Amino acid sequence: MSECLFCKIVAKEIPAEIVHETGRTLAFRDINPQAPTHVLVVPKQHHADAAALAKADDGLADDVLKTAHDVAVHEGVAEEGYRIVFNTGPGAGQTVFHVHAHVLGGRSLTWPPG
Ligand code: 5GP
Repeated sequence: MSECLFCKIVAKEIPAEIVHETGRTLAFRDINPQAPTHVLVVPKQHHADAAALAKADDGLADDVLKTAHDVAVHEGVAEEGYRIVFNTGPGAGQTVFHVHAHVLGGRSLTWPPG
């Protein structure tokens, strides 16, 4: 069995509030939301980070991006503006090493991020 937390969520071995699912992606609410909308989008296939996803070379990165946008539309934040973030590597704050896009919206988002 995989020891990866998000692989376990994909396998439905650990519960999560799923908001969207496609054949190759899953979107679920972050357990510690940083905005009124805070959804994580993962490829079902395990890749450690965005760098590995970029090398997957089979359109999977496109699928993750499309799902992230679909989530923003379904959550009602697409028109006001939203943010898609891939923390990549420990130095950037990545803590779960199954690549995930944070989809954040529903409040004013400042720049630069901390
Ligand atoms: P990172 O720090 O890797 O960019 O983001 C990991 C995210 O996963 C964090 O925002 C954290 O709150 C979220 N997270 C950690 N454990 C769980 C969990 O068991 N379930 C859900 N839904 N989110 C989690």
